[in-house]
Amino acid sequence: MTTARRDSTMTFPDIVPALKSKLPALRGRLLPNEPLAPLTWFRVGGPAQALFMPEDEADLAYLLAHLPADIPVTVVGLGSNLIVRDGGVPGVVVRLGRGFSDTKVENGHRIRAGAAVPDVRVARAAQEAGIAGLAFLRGIPGAIGGALRMNGGAYGGETKDALIEARGVDRRGNLRVFSNGEMHYTYRHCGAPEDVIFTEAVFAGRPGDPAAIAAEMDKITESREATQPIKSRTGGSTFKNPPGRKAWQLIDAAGCRGLKVGDAQMSEMHCNFLINLGGATAADIETLGETVRLRVQETSSVALDWEIKRIGVPL
Ligand SMILES: Cc1cc2nc3c(=O)[nH]c(=O)nc-3n(C[C@H](O)[C@H](O)[C@H](O)COP(=O)(O)OP(=O)(O)OC[C@H]3O[C@@H](n4cnc5c(N)ncnc54)[C@H](O)[C@@H]3O)c2cc1C
Repeated sequence: MTTARRDSTMTFPDIVPALKSKLPALRGRLLPNEPLAPLTWFRVGGPAQALFMPEDEADLAYLLAHLPADIPVTVVGLGSNLIVRDGGVPGVVVRLGRGFSDTKVENGHRIRAGAAVPDVRVARAAQEAGIAGLAFLRGIPGAIGGALRMNGGAYGGETKDALIEARGVDRRGNLRVFSNGEMHYTYRHCGAPEDVIFTEAVFAGRPGDPAAIAAEMDKITESREATQPIKSRTGGSTFKNPPGRKAWQLIDAAGCRGLKVGDAQMSEMHCNFLINLGGATAADIETLGETVRLRVQETSSVALDWEIKRIGVPL
């Protein structure tokens, strides 16, 4: 495929007209050179060569089945765990919306949720239905697709503890269903094939008292507000906790609390959170992260792994 023109306008060759004529039955919106920064918490980065918002799962499967194999596909959720590099993302970027935003309470204390449903809405639906075990989703500011891919977890709960099955579409347009075991979950990692775009999940909890679950969710809200810079432009925890260690302690010990590159800073409040003070570029953010990794390696001999996902190309 054609490569990005890496100039200051950060635009890619427009592939949309050719794709539209090759995929005449496509129903969702397909936009050329659509800015991605507004779709992420960090508010940085370049455009998607083409941004696709499918109408529903069949529309997504149609795109993936007919899109030339050499065009890369990347999926984004609510962008709360994402750095989009300054040169943007070549190929097609998929973002799920309205057609993937239903929740349904089912028998057996189960909840079925579309991949575009914010985690907090699933937590709330479970609370109202008297389903305990999903309150942890209150603490994660992404949507269900991101929770499935990241094995999102907070306050003692993880996606893997509650998931019954996930549904998705692979790069060739095949519908796939994965049981909990087939997701091969470990800490902040999902071993399901990387090309799968999740479309829906079924979670199970246990009977619970709605008032008690509401109180648990309130506690999570309070604790987050007290300990995390949740009103900042951030991506949550930058690095995974290495086995038996806390990333923030290693970062602190390396003297990196408050460290800055341009307008990117390791938060003073929670030093494993990297924040954009306003004018940071994706390059500033990534350079700061790599600087921290180097300093932690030097001081503690621990190689930190990025938890935040980085997509796209540098300028
Ligand atoms: C203030 C703050 C606090 C946070 N606290 C926590 C926390 O306590 N615990 C925690 O686990 N995380 C936390 N995070 C990180 C983040 O919210 C989670 O990783 C979340 O699950 C990401 O979901 P998202 O929709 O924003 O995904 P994105 O950030 O858009 O994407 C993250 C990854 O998921 C993939 N993805 C997204 N949607 C799909 C899909 N439909 N199918 C397949 N792959 C998909 C993307 O390709 C990417 O690799 C925090 C983030 C912030 C900003």
